[in-house]
Amino acid sequence: RWEGEAEIDYVFKVVVVGDSAVGKTQLLARFTRDEFALDSKSTIGVEFQARTLTLHRKRVKAQIWDTAGQERYRAVTSAYYRGALGAMVVYDVTRRATFEHVPRWVEELRAHADGSTVVALIGNKADMPAARREVAADEAARLAEEQGLFFSEASALSGDNVERAFLTLLEEVFAVVS
Ligand code: GDP
Repeated sequence: RWEGEAEIDYVFKVVVVGDSAVGKTQLLARFTRDEFALDSKSTIGVEFQARTLTLHRKRVKAQIWDTAGQERYRAVTSAYYRGALGAMVVYDVTRRATFEHVPRWVEELRAHADGSTVVALIGNKADMPAARREVAADEAARLAEEQGLFFSEASALSGDNVERAFLTLLEEVFAVVS
């Protein structure tokens, strides 16, 4: 099917942030290619992956940006955030510290991205056994409500809720820009 650039009505830049190893790269791979790469970090050095979809009869190219490991050195640059219409703040439901750092990521976003950037909070690795869980969904939902974010748990591994989370975010961005 023809998906040439000429057909694109909108390009939405979406950035994915969160602590190292929460699953950002895998969420992106799941949404853009429906893949879970076992050799993680195969996308290192790649700035973004794109997927084109139709929203309200418009062709929308979602450019999903990956930090490609910059967060390890607290070196996520302002260029990364620039022009982002949407953002996902990701934590790992099995590592409490990654959840506790969420407000820091939200602040960073608010400082660098545009005021109208739509932000979603994603609790990844929801497939992990209950005994491994360190963050309850209702606690995260409360934080999201306080901060005015969308919230969903998801699993890049199983694919659960990944499509829905990205589509909800893109729909919200669409509502803001259209
Ligand atoms: P990033 O540093 O935030 O980009 O994290 P990665 O995407 O590289 O994932 C970090 C590790 O978590 C890798 O070993 C992945 O295989 C694993 N991982 C990512 N997503 C999931 C998930 O949904 N479930 C499980 N069980 N493991 C995951």
